[in-house]
Amino acid sequence: MTNRVLVTGGAGFIGSHLCERLVDSGADVLSVDNYFTGSKANIAHLVGRPTFEVMRHDVTFPLYVEVDEIYNLACPASPIHYQLDPVQTTKTSVHGAINMLGLAKRVKARILQASTSEVYGDPTVHPQTEGYWGNVNPIGPRACYDEGKRCAETLFFDYHRQHALAIRVARIFNTYGPRMHPRDGRVVSNFIVQALQGEPITIYGDGGQTRAFCYVDDLVDGLVRLMAAPDEVTGPVNLGNPGEFTILELAEKVISLTGSRSKLEFQPLPRDDPMQRRPDITLAGQALDWRPAIQLEDGLGRTIDYFKALLA
Ligand code: NAD
Ligand code: UDP
Ligand code: UDP
Repeated sequence: MTNRVLVTGGAGFIGSHLCERLVDSGADVLSVDNYFTGSKANIAHLVGRPTFEVMRHDVTFPLYVEVDEIYNLACPASPIHYQLDPVQTTKTSVHGAINMLGLAKRVKARILQASTSEVYGDPTVHPQTEGYWGNVNPIGPRACYDEGKRCAETLFFDYHRQHALAIRVARIFNTYGPRMHPRDGRVVSNFIVQALQGEPITIYGDGGQTRAFCYVDDLVDGLVRLMAAPDEVTGPVNLGNPGEFTILELAEKVISLTGSRSKLEFQPLPRDDPMQRRPDITLAGQALDWRPAIQLEDGLGRTIDYFKALLA
């Protein structure tokens, strides 16, 4: 029988790539999205495929559909977007998780949560392993996202223990690629758009803070492997590329790959901005036989091509 898969946040950056991968693999895919940060353009190329269906819906409200698998990705992910309406951000993570878990419980579906490296906050352990409990400010400007995602993880594990739900929790580290929102303020899209338009490259702080960047195709591969893994593999499991770069190094790479003449412009570091971040992906290697294959230069090249076409 065809696998019926629900993707919440299906019209977003990662969700649209996931929908594409699932439709190509023969699944019957339902994208549910309220288009807060995603767009119909991201999935326009899938509309018309007989196994792809689209629903406008906000996951903070109950949803009654019949599916075999649920990927719960609905949630704004960039600091600019999730801080626009912080109460709604927490509601999306928490009420959204409750509704999708209730749905999974009723129809006995496997359910995967798109969690985040933000659950580690500004980490005091480096690189971050899944056993680390994190260092999160519960009342700062990032808390609506970080604590919302932490509470969603709690709900996933309580539904697992209390109702024997088949859960999977992926802790996703910074992911980039085509279909990122050009104005969502994330560092990769910001730098590429700035470089292509000859605008100053905005470095927050001294640019010494680090991140590890995973290309979206690698990430989607990890999500699909996690869903397909045996039910014992609940996670949480880190998914990200362990290649760690300072923000200054990223700026230099983008400038050289675009051949831009943009200059660097230093701006204040946002509050609670983590100083370093890199996933330990030992568990993903062991449990899922997964490791990222796409190097930063290669992925940046593909992303630059996308933004060149978009801005043209
Ligand atoms: P995105 O903003 O492009 O996608 C999120 C999607 O969810 C959008 O299409 C948005 O319209 C939708 N959405 C938001 N609130 C909703 C609601 N209440 N009901 C229905 N739909 C809603 O972001 P993304 O980068 O594709 O992130 C997808 C998921 O992965 C998010 O849960 C995010 O927290 C997680 N994640 C992403 C990254 C990353 O680096 N991109 C890192 C860690 C975790
Ligand atoms: N829910 C949903 N779709 C379903 C089943 C449940 O959206 O198919 C929602 C519903 O709003 C419910 C929540 O999920 O409140 C949690 O469901 P659960 O069965 O865990 O709890 P209860 O129904 O007792 O609140
Ligand atoms: N950043 C930057 N310039 C920008 C956008 C972001 O220097 O134009 C920095 C930001 O302060 C952070 C890092 O890049 O240290 C990653 O930011 P992003 O918002 O992409 O992701 P997150 O902070 O959630 O990892």
